[in-house]
This record gives sequence, structure tokens and C-alpha cells, in this order.
Amino acid sequence: LYVDHPLGAGQSVPLTREQAHYLFGVMRLAVGGRVALFNGRDGEWLAQVAEAGKRGGVLSCFEQTRPLQLPPDLWLLFAPIKKARTDFIVEKAAEMGAAKIMPVQTAFTNSERIRQDRLQAHAVEAAEQCGGTFVPEVCDLQRLDKLLDNWPDGRQLMFCDEAEAGSALRLAEQHKGRAWAILIGPEGGFSDAERQRLKDLPFTHVVSLGPRILRADTAAVAAMTLWQQALGD
Ligand code: SAM
Repeated sequence: LYVDHPLGAGQSVPLTREQAHYLFGVMRLAVGGRVALFNGRDGEWLAQVAEAGKRGGVLSCFEQTRPLQLPPDLWLLFAPIKKARTDFIVEKAAEMGAAKIMPVQTAFTNSERIRQDRLQAHAVEAAEQCGGTFVPEVCDLQRLDKLLDNWPDGRQLMFCDEAEAGSALRLAEQHKGRAWAILIGPEGGFSDAERQRLKDLPFTHVVSLGPRILRADTAAVAAMTLWQQALGD
């Protein structure tokens, strides 16, 4: 169970109404029952139910069962598309071990707003689903051009472009252990000016994900899969 609270030996963890409903109503736990907790920072901890009520309750942490397992230093940058497909991209990126998920606004981005809190909740659910101890941060929407202006030193960018031919898998295999980011465009792709700027940047590597034009959500999953295969963690 994910809790937004520090975890440690002897730590009391208060439950929200929804968490109490899940643990005591759905899972039928009672005082003394055990549950594994994670918060994305302190690893996995076993806790015991100390108080159980309809609207809340308290858990008491007593033993760490797993340390925090960080994913590879890989960010996913993508231009948000329709709501359900954006949700899908965030969920899959979190499942496949993205360290940070960054929605970016490009020249042809369809949506100008995102619900960052909702997307972060999807990342938490995805981490719960795959038994992870880490939850990637989902950033608020930011402009791609500004992000490129302030690009962090040393991080490389895999620019996925259907007009290119370089192998994404080969690139991922050659660069294990370094800080990377993947960039996926919107339904309309990138403008000529964006494409040119991206290609001219010293930290950019432009690659293909195969001979067919993939929908943006498919492209995000395909790119993450190649990295996971190449990195093996
Ligand atoms: N520009 C296109 C058009 O309107 O015909 C389509 C863009 S595609 C639907 C959305 C994004 O997915 C692209 O900007 C690119 O980042 C990625 N993508 C899709 N297919 C790809 C491929 N075969 N190789 C690399 N990237 C791809």
C-alpha cells in the first residue's frame, strides 16, 4: 500500500478514509493485521494495524522488508495527447521504470493543460501494481524549448522521430549507466523548426522506432521497452 508519510521502525502512519476503507472494508484487516507499505522514498516496510475505524486508522511500522530500489536514470518526455492516452503513457512509463515523467508542450501539442495531480496518482497506482518501492515524479506541463534552454549537464536525449533511421535499441545498449531522456512528440509530430533545433543540439541522438508511424502512446511504450531490454533493470 502506498502512503504519503515517512516510514521507519516504530513510526505511526495515519490512514486516510479511502485507505481505511480499502484495508478494513475490502481487505478485511483488523487490529494486529499486517500490511506492506511504501512511500517511494524509504523502501518497503511491514506495518501492523494499531487502530481501525470506518473513517481512518493507524498503522505501526516495525520492519523494513526491502530497501528503496531506484530505476535507471531515464526520463520520459512526451507531448500530452488525449486524456485517456496521456493517462496510459504515464501508467506504462511508471511500470517500466521511468525515473521522471515530463509532459512537454511542443509546437503541435494538442492540450495546453494537464492534471498533474491525477497523473501523479496514476504513477502511484502503477508502482503499487508492479510491486515497486519507487514512484517516479510526474512534472507539470512545461515548454520543450525552455526545457532545452536549461538542459542538465551530461544528460543525453534520445529524440524519437519517424523520419529517421538510426536504431534506438543500439543507442540504448551503447549508453548503459548514463543519464538519459527519451522524447516522444504529439499526434502531429514535430515542426520543422523544432526538428532542426533538436538535431543541432550536442546532447541529442535522433532515432527511429521502426518503419511504421506509431501513435504517440505506442511510441512511448516501444521506446521504454527498448531501454528496459537494453538496461535489464
Ligand atoms: N508526424 C506524424 C504525422 O503527423 O504523420 C506522426 C507523429 S507520431 C503519431 C507521434 C510521435 O511518435 C512522433 O513525434 C515520434 O516522436 C514518435 N514516433 C512515432 N512513430 C515513430 C517511429 N517509427 N520512429 C520514431 N519515432 C516515432
